[in-house]
Amino acid sequence: MSRPLIVILGDQLTEDLPVLTGAPDNAVVALFEVEEEGRYVPHHPQKIAFLFSAMRHFAQALRQKGHQVHYTCLDDNDNTQDLISEAERVATLYDCDDIRVTSPGEWRLFDRIQKRRSNTPTWYMVTDDRFFCSQEEFNQWAQGRQRFRMEHFYRWMRRETGLLMDEQNNPQGERWNFDQDNRKPLPRDIHPPEPPQHQPDQMTREVMALVETHFGDHFGTLEGFNWPVTRRQALNDLNHFIKHALPFFGDYQDAISDQHPFLYHARLSGALNAGLLRPLEVCQAAENAWRDGSVPLNCTEGFIRQILGWREYVRGIYWLNMPGYKQRNDLKADRNLPAFYWTGDTDMRCLRRAIEMTRDHAYAHHIQRLMVTGNFALLCGVRPEALCDWYLAVYIDAYEWVELPNTLGMVLYADGGYLGSKPYCASGKYIDRMSDHCQQCRFDVKKSIGEDACPFNSLYWYFLERHEKQLAGNQRMKLIYGSLNKMSSDKREALREQAIRFLDQLDYEPAYGQGDHLAGYR
Ligand code: FAD
Ligand code: SF4
Repeated sequence: MSRPLIVILGDQLTEDLPVLTGAPDNAVVALFEVEEEGRYVPHHPQKIAFLFSAMRHFAQALRQKGHQVHYTCLDDNDNTQDLISEAERVATLYDCDDIRVTSPGEWRLFDRIQKRRSNTPTWYMVTDDRFFCSQEEFNQWAQGRQRFRMEHFYRWMRRETGLLMDEQNNPQGERWNFDQDNRKPLPRDIHPPEPPQHQPDQMTREVMALVETHFGDHFGTLEGFNWPVTRRQALNDLNHFIKHALPFFGDYQDAISDQHPFLYHARLSGALNAGLLRPLEVCQAAENAWRDGSVPLNCTEGFIRQILGWREYVRGIYWLNMPGYKQRNDLKADRNLPAFYWTGDTDMRCLRRAIEMTRDHAYAHHIQRLMVTGNFALLCGVRPEALCDWYLAVYIDAYEWVELPNTLGMVLYADGGYLGSKPYCASGKYIDRMSDHCQQCRFDVKKSIGEDACPFNSLYWYFLERHEKQLAGNQRMKLIYGSLNKMSSDKREALREQAIRFLDQLDYEPAYGQGDHLAGYR
């Protein structure tokens, strides 16, 4: 009787994956820790520790359920340190006839496996069923549409799943979207809930020591590691969020705090993307909390939209357009990443705090990613590849299928408006309205010119001026180009000079291949 090797990747830690439930009794299930996966970008040590520890706990749970499990540890002498080679080596070791794997979430690995399909042992890819919308369904939805908008996709998904819909299949509360009630600025006195604490067990401590030895040169600290590494811990985080943070999620979804990294956000993206939680159970938990009256509708809807809408939408866009999507650079941005993205060493308080929180927790919330680090890179004209590699490296939840559309499309507008209808560019005024950073910054957010002027301001106008040809025709940009065109030529020139001076004096990381871009990350 033939015997398959079932390969479980680090972001496939879900017990009812079809590749597992459909496996014959004699199958060998295999998980691999390999250097190559930890290094293709310099992943944050907490991200590597989270995945290795979650993989080890998952292997243990599978053994307890009666599966025969092979586990390659990073330090094993015979570890080939490359995922494909390791799978083929282990398949031979156990005399397996074929290798079965759930379709990977990143093109990079998907493409490599595709190319091995005619080899022996033969590779088979099984569809990943952990999303609301299959790729075939997304492609059908996209077919024939001139323009894609997340909102249209989201409404379709609501109807398809019945989430937050009434008996007539109309949206609960008679509205699809409660954004008008959301997005309040940061209140003066705020006490967001502390996240649940997960004391690292022996297994996690061993992994942390291993990661420190092998990846200690990467940006980020392991201190304070507090991510869920088992399904039980992830469910605990989910329940904690629903009870303590979801009731305020919508209201302060866009607020940024100098002191509180998580505010009322879920902190669930790492567990969701690794497979410890299913998106349906997360959305149902939020809906149930609204039904039993403990959470207002604006918060539940705002939260479900992120998962049922944005998360599914960016995945569909990714697979519909890869591999070409990664090459897009419609604004012809050509600067390297400012070097302080790897140190936080800048006087710009908003950027410093976003990068410090990233270093300490492998986390920054959506608006910090979009409107602080993202917005700044957009205004500076950072190359998509350089920025994407940074986002892919530094966050607990980062995988290319979700990181790339968010960074290249939403933040950098490098796809020319395919994903979002306008660039999310903003001056310091936006950050001042939504955060308490500016009061503690050495720059003056109200100034645009001069040594103490907030750099976002001149960069913003210079960005608009540079890209007038591409952007001025956009209906949603009309107002702002109206203001630019009303400005005197002297003022425009002064802003341009200020921005260019600032850009010229910034330190940039060397481009890949032209220097040691890993040096001095810590
Ligand atoms: P919450 O704010 O509480 O949101 C709840 C859930 O909604 C998240 O857990 C996540 O699963 C989902 N979600 C929210 N916004 C998005 C979005 N724009 N795209 C996809 N899912 C979303 N998210 C990732 O999971 N991985 C990434 O690599 C990633 N890269 C990003 C890069 C940039 C430049 C930007 C602007 C956003 C990125 N996001 C990414 C989206 C978002 O910032 C994170 O999902 C979110 O901050 C995770 O924290 P949370 O669980 O507390 O989310
Ligand atoms: Fe950021 Fe400018 Fe505010 Fe300083 S003044 S925190 S640089 S927006």
